[in-house]
Amino acid sequence: MKPSLSYTYLSVVSLIIYLICQPGLQAQSGAREGAPPNVIIIFADDLGYGDLGIYGHPTIRTPNLDRMAMEGQKWTNFYVGASVCTPSRAALMTGRLPVRSGMAGQTHRVLFPDSKNGLPAEEVTIAEQLKEAGYATACIGKWHLGHKEQYLPTNNGFDYYFGIPYSNDMDNVADFAAVGGYFNFWKSPGALRVENFNVPLLRNTEIIERPADQRTITRRYAEETMGFIRDHKEEPFFVYLAHNLPHIPLFTSKEFEGTSERGLYGDVVEEIDHGVGQIIDLLKAEGLMENTIVVFTSDNGPWLPFGVDGGSAGLLREGKGTTYEGGMREPCIFYAPGMIKPAVITDLGTTMDLFSTFSKLAGVSVPDDRVMDGLDLGPVLFGQGESPRKTVYYYRNDELYAVREGDYKAHFITQGAYGGHAKQVHETPLLYNVNIDPSEQFDLAEKHPEVLAKIRKVVARHEAEMDKGVDQLKDRE
Ligand code: MG
Repeated sequence: MKPSLSYTYLSVVSLIIYLICQPGLQAQSGAREGAPPNVIIIFADDLGYGDLGIYGHPTIRTPNLDRMAMEGQKWTNFYVGASVCTPSRAALMTGRLPVRSGMAGQTHRVLFPDSKNGLPAEEVTIAEQLKEAGYATACIGKWHLGHKEQYLPTNNGFDYYFGIPYSNDMDNVADFAAVGGYFNFWKSPGALRVENFNVPLLRNTEIIERPADQRTITRRYAEETMGFIRDHKEEPFFVYLAHNLPHIPLFTSKEFEGTSERGLYGDVVEEIDHGVGQIIDLLKAEGLMENTIVVFTSDNGPWLPFGVDGGSAGLLREGKGTTYEGGMREPCIFYAPGMIKPAVITDLGTTMDLFSTFSKLAGVSVPDDRVMDGLDLGPVLFGQGESPRKTVYYYRNDELYAVREGDYKAHFITQGAYGGHAKQVHETPLLYNVNIDPSEQFDLAEKHPEVLAKIRKVVARHEAEMDKGVDQLKDRE
């Protein structure tokens, strides 16, 4: 990131605010003297890099997110910890690569409704961190880190939970074989019936609805978030709003049905954007906006085999399930007017960094008894300097497939997903400059052996300190 001169004044103001927000120093304006900022992390499911207006989609209208990106920070090199749901969520929650907690297994890629395990109790979550600093904490939406009571959000640092505990296509009761298999099912008449997916809706640990009425779930998640904000506006709060959509099956409320030029997928994304706008309006009306940081990103790339019912990674290669850029690079917007310096950020960041960044702002130290992967993005957010992150690891299951170091990404192993190309181990890794060539088309391995040598050293260091956790995804009832 190269700060321009026109931002000098803004930088100074941002720096002062950042320093005031630091633990030990007293905070400025806002409802609560000396309080750390409220945090809202909004996590979409399977939304691709190219699925927001501000990230280049020509027909999906996302005016609220677009405005937040313009008035806040739009990150263009922001990554998740894995290319599928469960491990990606484990990474965000723990600030660690999911392979360390055992939430990236060998036999299964995600947890299922008959999975026996979940996020191990010894893992420290971002919610537990913020609770320690006195935050009220809520998880609204998809959890997917274990559906049994001991693994639910209420046992992982959240005071409150409302949501579907795993993917919205699970507990399916339709006869897939009769219609030519899972990927064909969606084209069959009557596929998009709420009753086909017998997923539970939980409040805290109790099932309150089954099947969850997915037509209203996006709207209800936004409403629950606003209810929690109203109830906890006098204290610091953390809301993790993890939408089940736009993961298939796609459902929208009546109000959004048939409204987007992009079709049903667009309807769904536009309803999510609408809810984000309502939450921002509430924060402003309650005088909370100047002390609240809102982050929007997605858990992994688009589920491409679903065609027009899946999203788009824009100019990035491939999608969900792969370690190509389309699988793991996501839109990411940080919004906090007056606190976060507006900019387009090309520095590297990951969802694991949210753990470290918000722990620091809350004045809680990160665990020092384990390897942490998160880094503090504060310097970039508050206009002080560049991102401390220079490296991104791309794991598939518990295996390291690729590494990005600065501008360059080396693929040691490549593999498609959901019927894509077979696993290929590259004796000479594929090497792309993903800043110049984000579509990963032009292999530079021959031209830049010195870059490959450098990345191999990074890998050797990484593997020397890697202690993989016991596979938590393997066992099923
Ligand atoms: Mg997902």
